[in-house]
Amino acid sequence: MRAHVLGSAAGGGLPQWNCACDNCALARAGDPRVAPRTQDSIAVTADDARKWLLVNASPDVRVQVARFEPLWPRAARGTPIAAIALTNGDLDHVLGLLSLRESQPIVVLATESVRAGLVERNAMLRTLARTSDQVTWRRLELGREVALDEVGVGVTAVPAPGKLPVHLVGLTEPSPEDNVALRVRDLASGRTIVVATAIGSLEGIERIVGGADGLLFDGTFWSEDELVSRGLGRARARDMAHVPVGGDAGSLARLAGVAARRRVYTHVNNTNPMLVDGSPERLQVEGAGWEVAFDGLEVAP
Ligand SMILES: [Zn+2]
Ligand SMILES: [Zn+2]
Repeated sequence: MRAHVLGSAAGGGLPQWNCACDNCALARAGDPRVAPRTQDSIAVTADDARKWLLVNASPDVRVQVARFEPLWPRAARGTPIAAIALTNGDLDHVLGLLSLRESQPIVVLATESVRAGLVERNAMLRTLARTSDQVTWRRLELGREVALDEVGVGVTAVPAPGKLPVHLVGLTEPSPEDNVALRVRDLASGRTIVVATAIGSLEGIERIVGGADGLLFDGTFWSEDELVSRGLGRARARDMAHVPVGGDAGSLARLAGVAARRRVYTHVNNTNPMLVDGSPERLQVEGAGWEVAFDGLEVAP
């Protein structure tokens, strides 16, 4: 099985259009220590499979498909993307669905709460329902594997501590289905890649990451007050349901015992100092046996 990181940045990307933090400024200037990154999306396939599963549909999906040849169409009209699984309804994970229209039939895997939050409140989503067979929604029930024989993988949603998308707060009741980690299992070999890009708390984290051969984990923020201390916002990491990487209570320390052969931080916010090659934070991450994802990284555990 193989996971290809299409986009490794959190919402906003790197550089973010309206941000002049140190990292965004370095990326904009072409500094080789800070590679630009598109927004969170991962393509997964079983070995030798000709079909792919996308985890999340980022606003950058068009350029992400354009620069990864295995996702190019192989007929006059068509796509090797057999399905798209959503980890939550945040706009940086779903806006790309609107770019995947052009009357192309697609299959979307989502929990009922994520599906309802998208299609029942947004007239624009009707562009994906131009014909009755355009989008097939397949429900991800918590803990129950959905087999995608075409791709050669099974997908299981595991509830993860998270929150409603900002645009649904106040409109709908929070539910354990709002934010999930995905366990993607190779149907032939049993190898498993876990994608957990929004984790609000590490309580019970073994349930999510246990048994993973490859782990793509929430690397959004280095510290709780990353935005506040830079004067870029008032929200702390926990307010946005992202456990920070650094510190005694951070994921790097708390996940030290994880056995996965590949341990990768992705969905990295543009303010995170571990984005900079050679920075103390990057050296700490690498010294602990973790990697920081970049666009194009392959994980084949
Ligand atoms: Zn996100
Ligand atoms: Zn920035």
